[in-house]
Amino acid sequence: MGHTEFLYAQYLNHPVICTDTRAISEGCLFFALKGDNFDANTFAVEALAAGAFLAIVDDPKFAGVENMLLVPDVLIMLQDLARHHRQQLNIPVIGLTGSNGKTTTKELINAVLSEKYKTYATKGNLNNHIGVPLTLLAIGHDIEIAVVEMGANHQLEIELLCSIAQPTHGLITNVGMAHLDGFGGFEGVKKGKAELYTYLKQHEGFAFINRDNQHLLEMAAAAGLNKIVYYGTGTENTVSGTLIQSDPFLELSWSAGKEKTQTITQLTGSYNFENMLAAVCIGYFFGLNTVEIQSGIAGYNPKNNRSQLSKTERNTVICDFYNANPSSMLAAIDNLNAISGNHKVAILGDMFELGPESTVQHQLIVNHAADRASGKLIFIGKHFKAVEEPDKGLFFDNPAEAGAYLKDNPIDQSLILLKGSRGMALEKLLPLL
Ligand code: ATP
Ligand code: MG
Repeated sequence: MGHTEFLYAQYLNHPVICTDTRAISEGCLFFALKGDNFDANTFAVEALAAGAFLAIVDDPKFAGVENMLLVPDVLIMLQDLARHHRQQLNIPVIGLTGSNGKTTTKELINAVLSEKYKTYATKGNLNNHIGVPLTLLAIGHDIEIAVVEMGANHQLEIELLCSIAQPTHGLITNVGMAHLDGFGGFEGVKKGKAELYTYLKQHEGFAFINRDNQHLLEMAAAAGLNKIVYYGTGTENTVSGTLIQSDPFLELSWSAGKEKTQTITQLTGSYNFENMLAAVCIGYFFGLNTVEIQSGIAGYNPKNNRSQLSKTERNTVICDFYNANPSSMLAAIDNLNAISGNHKVAILGDMFELGPESTVQHQLIVNHAADRASGKLIFIGKHFKAVEEPDKGLFFDNPAEAGAYLKDNPIDQSLILLKGSRGMALEKLLPLL
C-alpha cells in the first residue's frame, strides 16, 4: 500500500487535519509543514503529546518512530491526500479565481447555493497550495456542492490547485493589476488565471463568464472553451442584470430565464455588482428558483472587512482594509465618490507585491484620488510617501504617524474609506475613527 492509500484509510477514521501545534484537536492528523521561518517537524513530538493521532513528517530522524509517518515531502503528501479525497467525492466543485472579489463572490455563491443544497465553501481566505488541500479535506461525504477559492501569485499555481480540487465548474471573477511582481505584469496575470479555463476545457467542465469583460472573453477563446454560461448586463446572457443604485448599498435588477426581479443587498461598492451577478448565474444554473436566489443574495452581510460598512460613534467607515491592489483601489475610490454625502475621507495604505511597477501604480492612485475625490485624502506607507505631492493630500510614512495625526485632528461626521494591503494593518486606525 502506498503512502496515500495508507493515509487515506487513517483519514477516514480521523478526518481532522491540523498543521499548528497551538490548535491541535484530539485525534487529528498532524502535518508537519515547513514555512519560511519554521519547520514543523520540530513540533511533531509535541503534536502527538497534545493529542494528534498521527504525525506526518519528512525529517528522516523520525524513521520508525511510533505514530509518525515518514514521507518524502509533507506538503506533497497533504496535496496528494486532498486530491485522493476529492476523487472519492462525486459532487460538483466550483473552482473560483480572479484578481479581485474571489472571497466575496465565493461567499455570495455559497449564500445562494446553500438555500437549496448542503454546501461547503472555503473558510476565510484558505486559497493557496496549503489552503486548498485543507479546504478539500474538510468536505464531508454529505456535502452536495463545494465552492473552492483558488488564489495565485505566480504562473502554474492555478494549474496545480486545479489538479487537486478538480473543478467541474469554474469562474474567473476578473483579471486586474494584482500580484504583478510574481506574475510578470498584466499579461502574466491573464496567462496565470487562464489556467483554470484550460483545465475546464481539458476536463469538459463549465465556465461561468462575465460577457462584459473583454479580457475574460479573450482568455476563454484562447483556451478553446465551449461549455460557457454567460452573465452580464446584456439581455442575451443567460443571466443579465442592471445596477439600479449603490448609495450606499447595492440594489440590482436581474433576470434569469423568464423571471425578472429586483434585489436590495447589504453590500456596498458598485464593483460588487458583477460578483452578485456571478452568484445569481451559478444559482440559476444549479436549478434554484428566483425566491431562493433572491434570499441568498439579500441575506448576505459581509463581516470580513471587505466592503463592509460600519458605523463608529463619530463616523461611517467603509472597512475595506483586508487587502488592496491598484484595480481594487481604483474601484474603491470611485465607489466612495459615488456615495452621497458631504464629508468624505479616503485613508489609503500602500499596495504590496507590485514589483517594478510599484512607483507608477502608487502615483496613479494618488492622481486618480486627487482628480476624483471630493474630500480629504490621507496616504500611508513608504510607497505612497515616495510619490508625495503635498497639494494632493497628506502623506505619512506609517500607520503610527497617521494615527498620531488623527488623534490631534479627529475626523467627525464623515464617510471614510479605509483601505490598504494586508501588511499595512490599517485596522489599527479604526479605533481613532
Ligand atoms: P485575496 O486575493 O486577498 O484573496 P479576493 O480576490 O478574495 O482577495 P475579496 O477579499 O473578495 O477579494 O475582496 C477584496 C477587495 O477587492 C474588496 O474589498 C474590494 O475592495 C475589491 N473588489 C471586490 N470585488 C471586486 C471587483 N469585482 N472588482 C474590483 N475590485 C473588487
Ligand atoms: Mg480571498
